[in-house]
Amino acid sequence: MALDRFDVCIAGAGVIGLAIALQLSNSRRFSNKAIVVVEREAGFGQHISSRNSEVIHAGIYYAADSLKARLCLRGKRLLYEHCQRHGVGCRQLGKLIVAGKSVINELEALQAKAACNGVDDLQWLDRRQLQQREPAVEADYALLSPSTGIIDSHAYMQSLLHLAQNNGVEFAPRTEIKAVSRASQGFIVDTRIGGGNNSEAYQFGCESFVNCAGLDAGSLARKIEGGKQQTVPEIHLCKGDYFSYSAASPFGSLVYPLPEKNTQGLSIHSTLDMAGQVRFGPDSEYVDERNYDVSPSKREIFAAAIATYFPAISAEKLQPAYSGIRPKLAARGEPAADFIIENYEKKGTPGLIQLFGIESPGLTASLAIADEVVQLLS
Ligand SMILES: Cc1cc2nc3c(=O)[nH]c(=O)nc-3n(C[C@H](O)[C@H](O)[C@H](O)COP(=O)(O)OP(=O)(O)OC[C@H]3O[C@@H](n4cnc5c(N)ncnc54)[C@H](O)[C@@H]3O)c2cc1C
Repeated sequence: MALDRFDVCIAGAGVIGLAIALQLSNSRRFSNKAIVVVEREAGFGQHISSRNSEVIHAGIYYAADSLKARLCLRGKRLLYEHCQRHGVGCRQLGKLIVAGKSVINELEALQAKAACNGVDDLQWLDRRQLQQREPAVEADYALLSPSTGIIDSHAYMQSLLHLAQNNGVEFAPRTEIKAVSRASQGFIVDTRIGGGNNSEAYQFGCESFVNCAGLDAGSLARKIEGGKQQTVPEIHLCKGDYFSYSAASPFGSLVYPLPEKNTQGLSIHSTLDMAGQVRFGPDSEYVDERNYDVSPSKREIFAAAIATYFPAISAEKLQPAYSGIRPKLAARGEPAADFIIENYEKKGTPGLIQLFGIESPGLTASLAIADEVVQLLS
């Protein structure tokens, strides 16, 4: 029996796979092609994409000329446009990066870095201006980033899937990719549908294969024949916990201290969700296993970190909320690494695109990352 055949198979229905599906199906070259998004879970976005801060980042922190910087800036613009056009909830609340007098040079360095990346709208606030804007915040200076915002990430992913399906993209949930082998034209993909004891084998063919499996991108890459296994980078799991705050939000903007020196994370900051509820986090901790539990024992550590910019914090109002895991390419203590979006054509595997290390600002950059993949496949 002839195998089902697709032009493109996208592995993983996180925000990246869904954005790729939409941008591919909107592109002239792929608009009439058969595209399938294959997802192991019962629904979309159940891993990194639903366990993050839901912040639309401005593009301040990333190394000059990096993919993170370029795709964050472009992605931010595309994302606000998408939200407006398709009625996805987002709010451009602005963000304050706050600091004391003794570290003003670090704030200046951050402004210079942002300018290198093309973020030229940062504004300085002195203590008085900061007090006027955010009376609950204690700091000598702040940099205001007016283009930073928040988004309803679930509604965003839903819109991506819905629009892609309207373009003819097929969505295959509960389907785990087990192996990918080379065929005379493209690839043969072996999957199990259904999960558990009742799962069934299903095999199909595709011309191009896009690996955007998030935390599993490395292990999936090792299952791809011809994927040049020696170049598969190691993915380090770096967990971030969040605490909610059972009180009305003390802030109207997002409030961040200076980022951690080792750039593992952006320090325990405060963000708001679309309902106006404040949450604090994420911290950053390299872990060996996936475990999304948040230990209440971290409450005092969080309270101490938050008190540096919000002295009126009540530790007892902090409640363990949720956590997410970053797919880091940098091991503990190593300098931050860039996204990898790799085309294997020149390495002898045409049609294979793999994405590794899509940590923050992946949500912000998602549509720009997707356009990058469309270009590589065109
Ligand atoms: C703590 C934290 C905070 C963050 N905050 C922000 C932020 O505020 N702003 C921002 O821009 N970015 C943020 N990010 C980054 C952003 O969330 C990610 O870049 C983005 O969600 C990555 O999406 P993804 O599609 O690559 O991964 P995922 O959402 O994990 O999707 C991968 C999918 O692949 C599926 N899969 C895996 N293996 C297989 C297989 N063999 N077969 C079939 N399916 C498979 C998985 O089930 C999963 O659904 C944050 C990340 C973290 C962890």
